[in-house]
Parts: sequence; C-alpha cells; structure tokens
Amino acid sequence: MAKVVKVRGSKTGPVMRYLKEQMAQEEMRKILNGEYIPVYTGDAWHGSSGPIRKREEEEARIAAENRARHAAQEAQFNRNAITLPDPDPPMEPIPDPSPAPEPAQEAQPEPPRSGGWRNIVFDSQILSSLQKCPYYLNLAFMRRLGVEHKAQALESGDLLHTMMKVFYTLKIQRPDLPYEQYIEHSKQIGREKAITLAQELETSEEVSYHFEEYCKFREGEFWIPKAVEKSFTILLHESEEDNLRIYYEGIIDLVVDSEAGEAVVDHKSSRRNMPNPNIELSNQFMGYCYSLGINTAVINKVGFQKTLKPAERFTRVPLSYSNAQLAAWRDNTIWWAKQLAWFVDNNTFPQNFTGCDKYSGCIFGEACKTDPGAAREFVLENHYKELPAWNPHTRDKELDERIARIVQEA
Ligand code: SF4
Repeated sequence: MAKVVKVRGSKTGPVMRYLKEQMAQEEMRKILNGEYIPVYTGDAWHGSSGPIRKREEEEARIAAENRARHAAQEAQFNRNAITLPDPDPPMEPIPDPSPAPEPAQEAQPEPPRSGGWRNIVFDSQILSSLQKCPYYLNLAFMRRLGVEHKAQALESGDLLHTMMKVFYTLKIQRPDLPYEQYIEHSKQIGREKAITLAQELETSEEVSYHFEEYCKFREGEFWIPKAVEKSFTILLHESEEDNLRIYYEGIIDLVVDSEAGEAVVDHKSSRRNMPNPNIELSNQFMGYCYSLGINTAVINKVGFQKTLKPAERFTRVPLSYSNAQLAAWRDNTIWWAKQLAWFVDNNTFPQNFTGCDKYSGCIFGEACKTDPGAAREFVLENHYKELPAWNPHTRDKELDERIARIVQEA
C-alpha cells in the first residue's frame, strides 16, 4: 500500500528497457512497484531488487490478455449502447467555464541521468491519512499496523463490493445472460465469501438481500458499464530540481457511460443516512476524476435500512468538477507529497490531535495515550498486527478466476 521507495539509478535500467517496449503506465507501476520492495527496519528504508525477466514475460502476457478483453468490452459496450432502454430523464450537462483540461500526465520513460530518482507512490487513503495525522500515516501505512478484523461495517461493504463486481463484470462480458442470472451468480459468490468473514452469517444474508433489492430496483437503468475495478497509476510530478517523482494510484469501482456522460462510480453502503454537505471535497473522487480525465463522479449509495423504501435507500449522488478544481487538487496533492518526502527523510511524523476523534475514534488511540518510547512500542506490538501490503494492481486472483469461469460456462 504505502510505497515510499528510494530507487537507485543502477537498478532502473531493466525497468526502463521494459517501459520503452510497453509505454503503458499500469505496467510501469507494476514494474516499479514489484521490483523494489520497501522494507522498514525502524530507522531507514531500503529497496531490494528481484528477478524481472519472468515478470516481463508475465506482464507481456497479461497486457496482451487485457488488450483483447478491453477490445471485446468496447465492442460489447457499443452493442449495449444500442439496445439498452433509457427509462430515466437525461441529466443537464454541467457547464464548465474553465479552460480546456490538462490531460492526466502519462508515465514517461526516464531521461538518462547519473543519479537515481526518488519516487513517491501514494493513493487517496495515504493522502487523506497524511492530511489527518502524519503519525497515523507512519503507523498505518509505513509500519502497516492495524487491527486484525475489520469492523462489521467494513466487512459488509467488502461483501457488497464483491457482489457488485461480479454483477457489473457479467453485464459487460455476458450481455446475453438473463438479468436474474447476473443476480444469482453474484449472490452465489457472495455466499462463498460470507463464510470467510468474521461477521455473522445473518449479517451477510442481510447484505445479500439488499444487493438483490438494488439490482431489481436498477433493472433497465441507463448506465452502461465500461470497466470494473479499474486500477491506474499516473505521474503527478517530476522535477530534477528536487530529484522527485510523484505517482498517484487507485482503483475505481466502476466506470460507466451515464446520463451525464462518462462517470467514475464509487459504491458506498451505509446503515444510516449521514448527510455530508461537503461530500465533493474528497481526495478519492477528485483523484479519480483527475487521473482518468473525467469530470463526473457518482456515489452509488446502497442503504441497508429495511425501514426505507428502495427509492430512498438506492440513491446516486453526482459530483461534478471543473478542470480548474481538478488542477487545484493536483497542485495541492503535490504539495502534500513533498511534505511526505520531508517526513520520511527526517524520520519525523508529528501527531495531529485533531484527528483522534474522527471516524468513531482513531484505532491508534491506545498507543498514543501511552508514554512515547518503549511503553508505546509495547502497546503497538501487542495491540496491533502487521497487515499485508496492498496495491491497486494486485487483484483478488481467486475471485477473478471464479468470475472468468462463470463468464465461460454460464
Ligand atoms: S490517536 Fe490521534 S495522534 Fe494518535 S495516530 Fe491517531 S490521530 Fe494521530
């Protein structure tokens, strides 16, 4: 997840040879991310290199498969565009008075130089954590400490996302299937996932029920899905002056052609209606839009409240950003990334006590209430667990294979 990697010039040669062949930003990210594995030793960061030839072959194979799949999806998208009904009134396009968008920067091959680049790779969670509390960022993303089991709300959200992934992938790849089969296959995979979760099966059944209700409510909608769980990495900043490259990455639940044009979609489940008047001021949504060069994001809400009618539980919140807003987000993000570089270089991560009470209380409250030094280390080692690394390009292989089988056999 958190990757702050110092790449030495001598190790970048093979990567750059590969980039010249592929010139694809996702592959670049995989190589950069896969070859250098950051290891935190308590006082320094080190990079370790691994064999890349096998990775090159494997990446080339995956890239070829992806190209074929995307071509098939594009063809299918065109067919869907003709046949899908449009029951909803079109949304008014939102005027954008700002100048033409600056296209998201593509990853570029490294210019020849003697020294190495310092690379910072981060995502919206890391950025938001950095802005909330640098000390939290160090614990959660550099030392990768956390609590073992996710809170119930997170597990229910995960389960819903899994079923949504199956549902929209099948809609793209098997448009010939009856609508009920999209729901049935998604629920079946949801049941398989449910037994691996810490939450009660009854809770998972409830999530499955709401998912089915959502699908029924949305049957015949205009949305044409174009990509599911789309991962990206873009180069936000590169400067020889500070020898710094800043990459931003993420994974988007869904990209659709909607009533308002192309939009990035984020599924959000909740048990309560929590109005947020500033919902659009979000690193997650602005980052998605900037990175994909799309000006509209949609929060696809799935409420788990049984007392509300479907129309009240399944709502969509469109967020629209001007190009000027997205450019300002980029500049702001670059400033924070440079701040992160300073924190890392100086091994200094200050506490921000205004972050402690956010989101039902910070999980590191117990540690921060303890004396710094050995006592706090004891709490950190005994109350928290080291969690596995995460990156947006790492797929749930098992789930992907399961979906691929359904696509072939259904
Ligand atoms: S408890 Fe407060 S100071 Fe400690 S990591 Fe969390 S937000 Fe930062």
